[in-house]
Amino acid sequence: MKPAAFEYVVANSIEQAVAVLAQAGGDAKILAGGQSLVPMLNFRLLRPAILVDINRIPDLAFIEDVGDAVKIGALTRHHQLETSPVIAKHFPILSYAMTHVAHLAIRNRGTIGGSLSHADPAAELPMMALLLSAKLHIISGRGKRIVEAREFFLDALTVDLAEDELLTEIHLPKLPPHTGWGFEEVARRAGDFALAAVAATITMSAGAMKEARIALTGVAPTPVRASEAEALLVGQKSETKLMAHVTEAVRAAIEPETDLHASSDYRRHLAGALAGRVLAAALQRAGAT
Ligand SMILES: Cc1cc2nc3c(=O)[nH]c(=O)nc-3n(C[C@H](O)[C@H](O)[C@H](O)COP(=O)(O)OP(=O)(O)OC[C@H]3O[C@@H](n4cnc5c(N)ncnc54)[C@H](O)[C@@H]3O)c2cc1C
Repeated sequence: MKPAAFEYVVANSIEQAVAVLAQAGGDAKILAGGQSLVPMLNFRLLRPAILVDINRIPDLAFIEDVGDAVKIGALTRHHQLETSPVIAKHFPILSYAMTHVAHLAIRNRGTIGGSLSHADPAAELPMMALLLSAKLHIISGRGKRIVEAREFFLDALTVDLAEDELLTEIHLPKLPPHTGWGFEEVARRAGDFALAAVAATITMSAGAMKEARIALTGVAPTPVRASEAEALLVGQKSETKLMAHVTEAVRAAIEPETDLHASSDYRRHLAGALAGRVLAAALQRAGAT
């Protein structure tokens, strides 16, 4: 299929993009990497009157260490995240997670802003934003605002972004010292969306877990933080004795769907098993074992 006719506007600045979005009265769509938007246009699931191409806006693709955080421009490609020395140094879990996103050709085009705004229920970046407590910087003709990742993902393919708003930057607060990480994903084939994926970080202090974070994707309409499982770990020295309870709490935190690829029960079982593996890896990397 081919898309319905649309007007194509190349924005050369954030201000111009925002002005076109404001004038379009909700009938414009931002074109970033196009890896999710273009298929939706071709299937006529979307018929915007205007496409606002943000690819030529200078300074929207960057990765910058700003001391206590790393700032990432919304137009930063997946492959840039995967290969960035700054990301590898401060968020090795993110570098590793990116290798699970689609295929290289798609990672060369797809952007962090596009992935977070699109919010596919099985995508890796929304899960990483939730795990890493990302702050999303958003602009429109009405002003600027910052939304925490935990408040951004509302439902499948639905986020806290109005039709006239542009996501410009993602800020990732750096992780404390003595933090280890683990990431595991199962997909039918390499490059497919996850049947389930789990990511965790554990921060050790005085021989015990000071903070534990566990995030999942592919197992609910939005990415999920397994808060009760996290709370079980805090203050403990090892996860092994607790593991049955933690796995149960992870499985209780999710609402997997049955679809063509896997049943709900299988996804729930998988999420628990992967949680066990990522926590063991995170503890080892944190120097606890
Ligand atoms: C075959 C295939 C396999 C894939 N596999 C995976 C996978 O395994 N994991 C995964 O996570 N993803 C996967 N993807 C999706 C890929 O990661 C996309 O790149 C991503 O979801 C969207 O990013 P984009 O830059 O291409 O956005 P676009 O397609 O350009 O836009 C997506 C949506 O976000 C909006 N948007 C884009 N940028 C902004 C912004 N800055 N502010 C506000 N709104 C914005 C657009 O208007 C549109 O509604 C796959 C895609 C394909 C084609």
